[in-house]
Amino acid sequence: MAAADVASISQAPVPGYIHATPSRGLYRDVDQAIHDYIGASSKLEHDFSEDEPFFVADLGQVLIQHQKWQKYLPMVEPFYAVKCNPDLPLLRYLGTLGTGFDCASIEEIRTMLSWGVEPSRIIFANPCKSPSSVRFARSVGVYRTTCDNIDELEKIHFIMPEAMIVLRLFASDPEAMTDLSDKFGATKDVALDLLKRARQLGMNVEGVSFHVGSGSRSATAFETALRDSKHILEVARSLGFKSNLLDIGGGFLDEHFVIVAEKIRCFIETEIPSDIRVIAEPGRFYVQNAYSLVTKVIARRQATSQHGVSTIGMLYQNDGIYRNFMNAVFENLRPEPQLIRSNINPIGPEAPRRTRCEHEYHIWGPTCDSRDSITKTAIFDSEVLVGDWLKYKDMGAYTLAMATRFNGFDSQCKIVYVSSKL
Ligand code: PLP
Repeated sequence: MAAADVASISQAPVPGYIHATPSRGLYRDVDQAIHDYIGASSKLEHDFSEDEPFFVADLGQVLIQHQKWQKYLPMVEPFYAVKCNPDLPLLRYLGTLGTGFDCASIEEIRTMLSWGVEPSRIIFANPCKSPSSVRFARSVGVYRTTCDNIDELEKIHFIMPEAMIVLRLFASDPEAMTDLSDKFGATKDVALDLLKRARQLGMNVEGVSFHVGSGSRSATAFETALRDSKHILEVARSLGFKSNLLDIGGGFLDEHFVIVAEKIRCFIETEIPSDIRVIAEPGRFYVQNAYSLVTKVIARRQATSQHGVSTIGMLYQNDGIYRNFMNAVFENLRPEPQLIRSNINPIGPEAPRRTRCEHEYHIWGPTCDSRDSITKTAIFDSEVLVGDWLKYKDMGAYTLAMATRFNGFDSQCKIVYVSSKL
């Protein structure tokens, strides 16, 4: 495949066309796409991009996740959490699938509206917003927003009195990969105070929301939060609010989804009145397993200490914790690379020949910061050479969304789109 073709795929897929013409310009196989991209990029020496990491995004996998959601939680409307992965073709594709969107900032709202997403398909799900972002939301007709404290309620009343308030309730799975309860969520007492004040102010409390924490395996955490939500919805209704919205947040992990979803579905069917609309804000569940990241080994050396050179091999790749691996640090993940051996030798005629036995490496990112470490225990069945590639699966959630430009490395990556499984 020519470099130009690779570039056109990575820049402008039109996800709406994927159903109709899966083979038209889009790969069906992730590894084939990686293979061809590597081949094409090796010919790009003139623009220095042959040493850049790249993603392969399988939008077919996103569809699989969506279908799984519809199968196990058919009564819950997903509002995809844009913060998790704001890749534009992905967002457009989700738009064609009919999801709503959870936006946290002016920029996220602006992006979604610019493609004609109706304001009613957006929830401004940030419980502590700047006054100017509330003003912006009002100016574009995004009235649905979360709130978990009295100052925020007063702020919203002052700037956007017609807001559809969604009270964000306290919820916590302490075992979640990222527990959000230290930062957000009204206790039942605070929620009651908020309801009373909203009543005095004549505001519209549309319903309640919660988030048990990102990357939760706990059906119990959802059940507890659902019970609290039911209680506050009943109190709201008894105070005269219509309150017909329940937002069960995000936190879903693909591996535990079926069990957790089963419990949620059972609770909703038996405990939640049928006139209550139920929505959710999944992020990770939709995208984590749809994106692979491919990095390149740009340097290697032996570890050293005050005792001299050790036998520990160290690899330096072109992506690290300041780019697409930041969340691996926050969530204590242990990224597991797969080796893609290169037959192109970029370091000259004296390059060593590869030895074929098990090797263990410490893998570092490209910056000059010693915290920029990916894993200390990567094991491969051969030696790894400069110019080899490393494939990391399940890199769709909180990766490209969190990349920085630290040390002058680019925060953007090329993305090759694949339509497998369609
Ligand atoms: N909704 C809100 C308010 C969040 O803060 C987050 C993540 O932090 C999400 C949804 C998405 O969560 P997840 O990716 O775990 O589904």
